[in-house]
Amino acid sequence: MNRTAQCLCGGLRAIVSAPPQGVTICHCRDCQRRSGVPLTCNAFFRTADVRLEGAHRVYVRDGQEGRKVRHHFCPDCGTTVFSQGEKFPGLCMVVVGAFADPDFPAPTASVFEETMHRWVLLPPGIEHYAQGRAAGALKPKPA
Ligand SMILES: [Zn+2]
Ligand SMILES: [Zn+2]
Repeated sequence: MNRTAQCLCGGLRAIVSAPPQGVTICHCRDCQRRSGVPLTCNAFFRTADVRLEGAHRVYVRDGQEGRKVRHHFCPDCGTTVFSQGEKFPGLCMVVVGAFADPDFPAPTASVFEETMHRWVLLPPGIEHYAQGRAAGALKPKPA
């Protein structure tokens, strides 16, 4: 089953060939400033299950404890579609909004709630984390 995420102009696409291995809401300040919205929703996939098409640039930022996070964005419209963090080897993230699919699986974890906007309501049953999950807490599972 293939799903396609794309940037606003359609120039950068991420084609995924397996279901997400996890979906997370993030309230960290970097996500807030990068995206312009108070929270982001990110789907984790095995890196091997995602293929990028189209021109992109990479913005590298410092994550926790000096680990790097690489955001791949469209040079024309600026939308970030795909990210990779050194924290979770073998996994990558695709922004859920870029799939524009209301039936996409719902998030199961909410991280960096210490900077969550006060008005945000979260789905029942979601896991709550004040900060990020520990390095290696997410590992690629067989598809
Ligand atoms: Zn674009
Ligand atoms: Zn974040």
